Amino acid sequence: MLPNLKSNEELLKEIEVLSGQRIMDCYQCGECTAGCPVAFAMEPVPNQAIRLLQLGYVNEVLNSLGIWLCASCNVCGERCPRGVDYGKIADALRAINLRNNTYQLELEKIDKEFINQAPQQAFIAAFRKLTT
Ligand code: SF4
Ligand code: SF4
Repeated sequence: MLPNLKSNEELLKEIEVLSGQRIMDCYQCGECTAGCPVAFAMEPVPNQAIRLLQLGYVNEVLNSLGIWLCASCNVCGERCPRGVDYGKIADALRAINLRNNTYQLELEKIDKEFINQAPQQAFIAAFRKLTT
C-alpha cells in the first residue's frame, strides 16, 4: 500500500468536499450503526469510523476494511438525526484510496460467513468500488 502523504487536515477537507458531509456534525448517537445491514462485519462500524475521523485518526479509517464492506444502501444517512450520511463518507474514503492507487477489497480475504449473509447490493457496490 502506498503511503498517503497528505496531512490529516488536508484529508479531512478532501473527505468533506468529496462527500458533501460535515464530519463534526455527528454527535455519536449510533443510529447509523444500529440500522446498517453489514455492521456485523464492519471494522470500524459507521459511528466509530466517524469518531475516529473527528479525533484525527484519518489514516486508520482510510486503511480499514470497513469502508470496503459498505453496501452504499443509504440506510445510515436516512436514520441520522444530524443529517450526516456515512455512506457518502465511505464513498469518499474509497475514492481517496483509489486515487492514491491503494485499495483493500481482496475477495479471498472476505469472510465466507459475510458473503453468505451480505445483501445483494453489497456485491453490486463492490463492482462499483473497483472502478475509478
Ligand atoms: S446517526 Fe448520525 S449523529 Fe448518530 S452516530 Fe451516526 S452519523 Fe453520528
Ligand atoms: S450505506 Fe454503508 S454504512 Fe450506511 S447503512 Fe448502508 S452499508 Fe451501512
